[in-house]
Amino acid sequence: MHQDFLPPGIAVLTGAGISKESGIDTFRDEGGLWTQVDLEEVATLEAWFRNKKKVLDFYNDTRRSFRAAGIVPNAAHEALARLEHDYEGEVTIITQNIDLLHEQAGSRRVLHMHGRDGEVRCMACETVFASDDDLTVQSVCPNCQAIGELRPNIVWFGEMPLHLEEIYEVLERCGLFLAIGTSGEVYPAAGFVLHVRRRQPRAHTVELNLEPTGNKNLFHEHLYGPATEIVPPYVARILKHGWR
Ligand code: NAD
Repeated sequence: MHQDFLPPGIAVLTGAGISKESGIDTFRDEGGLWTQVDLEEVATLEAWFRNKKKVLDFYNDTRRSFRAAGIVPNAAHEALARLEHDYEGEVTIITQNIDLLHEQAGSRRVLHMHGRDGEVRCMACETVFASDDDLTVQSVCPNCQAIGELRPNIVWFGEMPLHLEEIYEVLERCGLFLAIGTSGEVYPAAGFVLHVRRRQPRAHTVELNLEPTGNKNLFHEHLYGPATEIVPPYVARILKHGWR
């Protein structure tokens, strides 16, 4: 199909809630990660300079937990992969998640704004490379040979999210914006719905979450329940009938 005739794009923002039913904890829910660890101690630049070993141990454990038996994409991830495959226009997933469950479900256009599992970055030379190995304070950068400067390629609190330029371009050309399993409390992601409403007044915005969030009034449509129950029928509906 010629580019001029493509239907409007679909931008999908996902958060920890979409991976919850795959067995990965969210941050803020009861029993979530924040109730188990103090993120100030493991997910900030200050934490890194204070105690590298503690930070690296936390992410080594996180990576292992992502690879545990049974951590597989769920019906919501699969529905979004189907949406990208079957919809004639552009479908982009903007995820705050570091897990790779969207890719494992078959999604191809995925922007990991908070970094991703399976990548390592050198604090000395900024090289990013794929690695699934545990990191220690003795790990050596294969590019610049610095020792103890390798960290997970994950955005910590206070650091700039990744891919922002591309993300805002996607938001500014979408006709449908979905926010799935995200609390709307972490910026800039929490501000994306407002950005779409301002720049694309004709775009339709939908919140799909376990429960209403603080951003609820910014969305035109709301669907509440577990992601595996609400996302697949919603995707089937828009593929068949569109979103209006
Ligand atoms: P969050 O923990 O702040 O919010 C999760 C949201 O998901 C809540 O609104 C909750 O009501 C909803 N939710 C919980 N279970 C759900 C379900 N089964 N179906 C649908 N919705 C459900 O997470 P967030 O908004 O993504 O933002 C916080 C940060 O969490 C992000 O920076 C992200 O990087 C990080 N995080 C990522 C992972 C992951 O990679 N899977 C896991 C935990 C935290």
